Amino acid sequence: MDPFTELIDDEAELVAVVRSWVNRQVKPVVRQLEHANTYPEALIDDMKQMGIFGLAVPPPWGEESVSVPCYARVTEELSRGWMSLAGAMGGHTVVSKLIGEFGTDEQKDRYLPRMATGELRATMALTEPDGGSDLQALRTTARPTRDGYVINGTKMWITNARRSGLVALLCRTDPEAEPRHRGISILLVEKGHGFEVSRDLPKLGYKGVESCELVFEGFEAPGSALLGPLEGQGFAQMMRGLEIGRIQVASRALGVAGAALEDAVRYAQQRQTFGKQIWEHQSIGNYLADMATSLTAARQLVYYAARCYQSGQRADLEAGMAKLFASETAMKIALDCLRIHGGYGYSTEFDVERYFRDAPLMIVGEGTNEIQRNVIARELIRRHRVSG
Ligand SMILES: Cc1cc2nc3c(=O)[nH]c(=O)nc-3n(C[C@H](O)[C@H](O)[C@H](O)COP(=O)(O)OP(=O)(O)OC[C@H]3O[C@@H](n4cnc5c(N)ncnc54)[C@H](O)[C@@H]3O)c2cc1C
Repeated sequence: MDPFTELIDDEAELVAVVRSWVNRQVKPVVRQLEHANTYPEALIDDMKQMGIFGLAVPPPWGEESVSVPCYARVTEELSRGWMSLAGAMGGHTVVSKLIGEFGTDEQKDRYLPRMATGELRATMALTEPDGGSDLQALRTTARPTRDGYVINGTKMWITNARRSGLVALLCRTDPEAEPRHRGISILLVEKGHGFEVSRDLPKLGYKGVESCELVFEGFEAPGSALLGPLEGQGFAQMMRGLEIGRIQVASRALGVAGAALEDAVRYAQQRQTFGKQIWEHQSIGNYLADMATSLTAARQLVYYAARCYQSGQRADLEAGMAKLFASETAMKIALDCLRIHGGYGYSTEFDVERYFRDAPLMIVGEGTNEIQRNVIARELIRRHRVSG
């Protein structure tokens, strides 16, 4: 049984296999890959072998599909080794869910079997240079033609864009629609003439995997690229996709926080000052106590959100709370881990500085934490509206 989520049988076994692989294959090489900003080809191949790219592909198209709590635990374990590895499968699994839930039979047959093995990688493109939070203001257009769409626009920060053969593109198919979200659709686009991965964006952390700008100039996509049977559903489809995306990002935060806590607990026993192991100084002991307590609380929220999503009910409030709390917790734990390590916390010869650079992404990505609070408040009122 998995000690955190009480997963049993095959799912607990999968988590244990990933955990052991992270300890043996990832931990020893991560610092070197990170600092060289090297794409982790061999590790991604191992992840394909373990079925990790198929975790969100439903049967009969995939054989490795798991429950959402198990998906959260696998994500957490990957991130405990290197957040970038969890990022390499994050958008892919959201697109798997989108196609599984909203795709036509033809789209499922065309994409899901190859996505399950990782032969075909996928990413999602929402954010634009002028804004990521106000998605209804997006400017990328897909003008309907007789047999498809002509796409123009720019997307920003699209992770795994170079290695992905499939992009779930959020775009405007009807500029006149009111309300605006009714004019937004998702198109499943494959690379071709008029679609360029124009540059890799330099970033603070999240090394090894690419985050890119995409430019569409007169790119032609067939009518069959529309996700599902109807235009104008893309915004609602993506909001559902972001529920699992936010659970994924929250799980990544758990992984980073868990790694930081492990390192802090070890170092606080190895390092001695004033004739004592440093954890015996009350200040340091208190840091450890607070780190462990807040991480345990964050875990409960994330697994709770995962169970809500798994039940099929709307989970935007739960996923938002999980993402908000887990990411803020990871940031605080990474900082306190750095404090505990003293000067070595600032050294690139230790992992601590990486946790401190990786943690902020979970605060910003998949909707900033300011946006999560908006989502939580709005949904709270919707669920508890008083009449009159
Ligand atoms: C490394 C990395 C990888 C990423 N990967 C992807 C990806 O694969 N696909 C993708 O589509 N996007 C991706 N993103 C983009 C990410 O989702 C956006 O950066 C994020 O949603 C915020 O959008 P923005 O950067 O445009 O900020 P803005 O929307 O410009 O926000 C700026 C500030 O204003 C605040 N703000 C804005 N509106 C409100 C409001 N209504 N209420 C309160 N505060 C508000 C924000 O919280 C933020 O603090 C990635 C980003 C990074 C850094």
